[in-house]
Amino acid sequence: MSTTETQTRTHVGHAHGHGHGHHHHDNTYLVSKNKNDAGVRITRIGLFVNLGMAIGKGAGGYFFHSQALVADAVHSLTDLVSDIMTLATVSWSLKPPSERFPSGYGKVESLGSLGVSGILLGGGVMMGWAALIALAQHIFPEAMEIAAQWGLMPHSHHHHGVGEMGPSIHAAWLAGGSILIKEWLYRATLKVANERKSSVLASNAYHHRVDSLTAFVALLMIAGSNVLTNASWMDPVGGLVISLMVIQAGLGNTKAALYELADVGVEEEMRQNVQQAATKALADFNSSSASDVQVRHVQGIKSGQNYLMDIELGAPASWTIEQTRGVESLVRERVGAKVRGVKKVRVRFVANTSDQPDFMDEFIQAKDGSSLSPEPEVDQDHQEHDHNHSHGSKDAEKSAKKRR
Ligand SMILES: [Zn+2]
Repeated sequence: MSTTETQTRTHVGHAHGHGHGHHHHDNTYLVSKNKNDAGVRITRIGLFVNLGMAIGKGAGGYFFHSQALVADAVHSLTDLVSDIMTLATVSWSLKPPSERFPSGYGKVESLGSLGVSGILLGGGVMMGWAALIALAQHIFPEAMEIAAQWGLMPHSHHHHGVGEMGPSIHAAWLAGGSILIKEWLYRATLKVANERKSSVLASNAYHHRVDSLTAFVALLMIAGSNVLTNASWMDPVGGLVISLMVIQAGLGNTKAALYELADVGVEEEMRQNVQQAATKALADFNSSSASDVQVRHVQGIKSGQNYLMDIELGAPASWTIEQTRGVESLVRERVGAKVRGVKKVRVRFVANTSDQPDFMDEFIQAKDGSSLSPEPEVDQDHQEHDHNHSHGSKDAEKSAKKRR
């Protein structure tokens, strides 16, 4: 159930003036090798707790016949899978770019998070369906019996009588225990977060709090099923509610991962942070050299944990390449140092007086009508040339490899 959680995280992040990814938590502490660090330790404890909870609640939900507990176990499982997926893809994401992948490997992480949210979505739908069938068997036992005979519905072992269909009260212990553990994790993580003033750890802490909330839904429904008369329908309702939360999270995360894979522009907050850092660097430069260089436009995309940013600067038209080169390095260095997550800064210069639309002129303009034909019109000579050219570059690549 990460959407609600992610939203909490994102909100917390925003409150602290930090924009993190929409769909998965910041993993600085999960992947760090420094085991003596309190932040790393509490993050790892969280991972093992998720593992224990997925197993404990899954087995408990199965043996004690609780839909709510099984649904919450699936939730813990998806939390665990996303932790593990993070560990698996994040080292790729941070690898330096290569000749084959000039923009780096960040999108490997985006693909990973698409996989995780797909699992989340699939798990949620399966749990929801199971809870819905269980609920239908409570409400229309006769109809479900007939449906089962006709082979329309799975023949459940639950349909003998309303009395024995409810979850065992033992399931409530597991749900209660998981509330306590998650509540403890929330407090322990928040304590470290406050000591460090870390918004990353703070949002991880709030995730644990939301996890304890879904366990609370499970506990309430299991207890209700046991304590109230004729209330065994409450447990599958709890399962349904938790499933819907998981599905909602899965949908949100899938959407975010797809957007990232489609190179959607970065969030406004990130854009402004980069703009501010660049403007400040230029203000220092302008005042010390009496120049007039301005930030004209900032854009960028997200690639895993990496932000790849483009900055357009306006400089006097008479400037030499050497002058622009110096300012380019200055801006890149400052933005890289001030804005966390920025991995690449591409700077381009235009004349101060230029009124070109920002960056849009980089796209090849379609001539009248020619945009309709997918193939560029090339004459034979030209094709020959292209052919040779690509051969040439391949040979160059080979010899470059030999030289290494
Ligand atoms: Zn969770």
